[in-house]
Amino acid sequence: MILTDLGADVNEAAKCATIALVIEVLEPATEQVMAKVERAGVEETDAAVARARDASPSWREIAPDDRSRILHGLADELERRGEELATLEARNAGKPIADARGEMEMVATCFRYYAGAPERATGKTIPVAGGVDMTFREPLGVVGMIVPWNFPLVIASWKLAPALAAGNTVVLKPAELTPLTALELERIALEAGIPEGVVNVVAGPGSVCGKRLVEHPDVAKVAFTGSTEVGRGIAAGAAETIKRVTLELGGKSANVVYADADLDAAAASAPSAVFGNAGQDCCARSRILVERSALDSFMEALEAAVDSMRVGDPLDDETEMGPLISADQREKVASYATGDAPVAIRGQAPDGPGFWFPPTVLAPISNDERPAREEIFGPVACVIPFRDEEDAVRIANDTVYGLSGSVWTRDGAKALRTARAIESGAVSINSNTSVRVSTPFGGFKQSGVGRELGPDALEHYTELKNVYYATEA
Ligand code: NDP
Repeated sequence: MILTDLGADVNEAAKCATIALVIEVLEPATEQVMAKVERAGVEETDAAVARARDASPSWREIAPDDRSRILHGLADELERRGEELATLEARNAGKPIADARGEMEMVATCFRYYAGAPERATGKTIPVAGGVDMTFREPLGVVGMIVPWNFPLVIASWKLAPALAAGNTVVLKPAELTPLTALELERIALEAGIPEGVVNVVAGPGSVCGKRLVEHPDVAKVAFTGSTEVGRGIAAGAAETIKRVTLELGGKSANVVYADADLDAAAASAPSAVFGNAGQDCCARSRILVERSALDSFMEALEAAVDSMRVGDPLDDETEMGPLISADQREKVASYATGDAPVAIRGQAPDGPGFWFPPTVLAPISNDERPAREEIFGPVACVIPFRDEEDAVRIANDTVYGLSGSVWTRDGAKALRTARAIESGAVSINSNTSVRVSTPFGGFKQSGVGRELGPDALEHYTELKNVYYATEA
């Protein structure tokens, strides 16, 4: 529950200081408190699971066309309130308003895409001796969702929309740093006609509410996005009750630029692919692999692109990069770009309050060095030279992660060979995009388990049932 008006000033918010269990929600661009929210604990999590369990039978039994209509209504309402939600997300997550608007469009599109799913759900009939066998996709029941602070509502929608379409009820735990749009969504869902208890949001610490969702015997599945370290703990915790788990974890993706590519296009696109969302993006192409013969011209074009980036007030329409999410995150990011780090390009960042960090390029760097091996989750790119195609693929795959990646070349056959050889869930050719509502997204290796988005995501929110019907006496 949000205790203060979102537009309230700090003095207004301070009236809640007497309540012990509150989350003070900060605006990363100003370091000011923008809202106070009741902090949930185990008791509130259990109550949310109980509400979801009670709401489950009627939501799963609702006629497919009715469920579809309600989800379309939610998509309409999200579209209608897009600007309001975008502003809230931009302030709370420190992201440029133009990006936040795009994210809110994606949220509505995601609900719209899965709104059609209830009426498209089909099974198979399998001929067998003495009768017929039919398969059905059954909802799991209560699904727990744990989401991070980098794309708060977008990542929630990737889980909520298919889960609800498949007939599940949900308990969503947003990150404590960014709970506001999730709490709004809970309200909007009710207003759009989703029955009480179907969508429940608990805003509280991961180590308390998230952990409880993972342990709770009435939660059938946990869908998680966040760090590989926490994901590992969730997979281990879920084993106790044999919960279904999908994990969307970290990344250290390669952006492979061959010498025969359109270098200007590759260099113009590279900054947003790693500095977008201030680098706090699991898909960030934070390792830019450049064929050695093209290194100088690429670096020149990259420098011009980084210099022209507009870093500043998230609510300014022209802003391309905002602050980091927190002081802790800034400290972590800075640790990769100090001391002996070969800083080749450093862009601008505002002074004063706010968790600012300038877009930074380390070059040339070896894939064995710490900035190239660890997920920095900030605006720090590593440029790694390579010799030839074999070398590029070897370096791209020399990581524990495998989430996304890109290949830039004018040679179509080489592009496809490289894309197929990269051990990663989503690879783009002559583009740095990774995510579309209608196509699958997820990781190889330690970047995760399972897929989100696209038609296949529905399978992760259902169990396959087979029913045998004897037709012979
Ligand atoms: P976390 O993985 O800690 O947080 C992600 C979500 O998990 C949050 O909702 C968090 O809750 C929750 N959580 C934390 N601990 C537990 C637990 N024991 N059981 C269940 N849920 C838990 O990421 P951080 O926010 O700490 O970021 C650290 C690093 O993780 C980043 O620097 C980045 O490298 C990576 N990261 C990757 C993301 C991705 O999209 N792949 C997203 C975010 C981070 P709460 O924060 O409220 O305590």
